[in-house]
Amino acid sequence: MSAGDSHIMPTYNRAPLRFVRGEGAWLETETGEKYLDFGSGVAVNTLGHAHEKLNAALKAQSEKLWHVSNLYQIPEQEKLADALCDASFADLVFFTNSGAEAAEGMIKAMRKYHAENGAPEKVTLIGFAGAFHGRTLAALAAAGNQAYLEGFGPAPQGFVQCPELSLAAVEKLIDEKVAGILIEPVQGEGGVRDVGTAFLRDLRALCDKHDILLGFDEVQCGIGRTGKLFAHEWADITPDVMAIAKGIGGGFPLGAVLTTQAVGSVMQPGTHGSTYGGNPLACAVGAAVMAEVNNEAFLAHVQDMALYFRQHLARLLEENSDMFEDVRGRGLMVGLKCKRPNTDLVAALRDEKLLSIGAGDNVLRILPPLNVTQDEINIAVTALEQACAKLRAGD
Ligand SMILES: *Cc1c(COP(=O)(O)O)cnc(C)c1O
Repeated sequence: MSAGDSHIMPTYNRAPLRFVRGEGAWLETETGEKYLDFGSGVAVNTLGHAHEKLNAALKAQSEKLWHVSNLYQIPEQEKLADALCDASFADLVFFTNSGAEAAEGMIKAMRKYHAENGAPEKVTLIGFAGAFHGRTLAALAAAGNQAYLEGFGPAPQGFVQCPELSLAAVEKLIDEKVAGILIEPVQGEGGVRDVGTAFLRDLRALCDKHDILLGFDEVQCGIGRTGKLFAHEWADITPDVMAIAKGIGGGFPLGAVLTTQAVGSVMQPGTHGSTYGGNPLACAVGAAVMAEVNNEAFLAHVQDMALYFRQHLARLLEENSDMFEDVRGRGLMVGLKCKRPNTDLVAALRDEKLLSIGAGDNVLRILPPLNVTQDEINIAVTALEQACAKLRAGD
């Protein structure tokens, strides 16, 4: 079918590729062509495609029970919430179906906390330039990307953006109306920018000083992506609230808002909800993802592979200084700042059968599955070398 005949709303510029099956880090098209998937469905396929244990968890649950709604207790949900809380700062979890819904829930919890603690005037959330929190109106307002808000009517109020990652700049924005600060420890869509452990620690201290909340959006950088279960662990501090999604479902739609007791306990019956959020199928898969990812050996593998990949990338950068400016990100959340349009690089890599993703600030984003092997990284590095050589030859 040509694009003009499609009944799919044209919100995406899709590559002319139709995948029908996958295994590990590999995807196969309708016509049997294999691609190395270093995009992982935008940091979603934590364990690659068709992982045995995730398949088993989904199959077992699908034969028992799919959905009951949150009008009833859901054992699979409780089990996953226990696992997430045991592994983090959190005491309470609200499950969602997506990252935007998790970001939205995080924003609501941050405001409600102050409303329930005698400070209903505290509603403003401070976000950062280059942030991305999803496509709901509030998530867009929080990130403040005007291009994404354009044409969608009045944006929700109570959001301000800090133009730079500087403590002084953030502190200037704090007044009696501020509820908290929202930040991705490693910005994803904005250009794979690690905000740095020192900055995260400074923000924690600033929030404590002003009695406001610190909210992390780890939708992209969480669940092992940086080599720790959560990216903020590198900074040795904790937030009050955190949104996760993408990697936690390993491909099944699932997200969550994690909070401290003090914040989450204000979300009493009737304050918030989600019909599908945390349904048995999603939570059974999420628990299987957690069981695989949340252990020292697995996270050590992520760190080893990241080091190996980044060593190769450092050399690649030296040899292709006409293509790339620097390597960014943390762990297996890799960004290459491009010197020509990143879309050229994504296309050239696709010709080499390597899938990657563009990001803001003209960055090429590379997000392998976390169980990637050294051999697969070697293949990707070769593809990068080839793509650069061909682009150069075409000039
Ligand atoms: C992808 C993303 C979101 C939105 O997730 P969706 O599942 O697309 O709604 C929110 N925050 C960050 C940091 C993301 O990378």
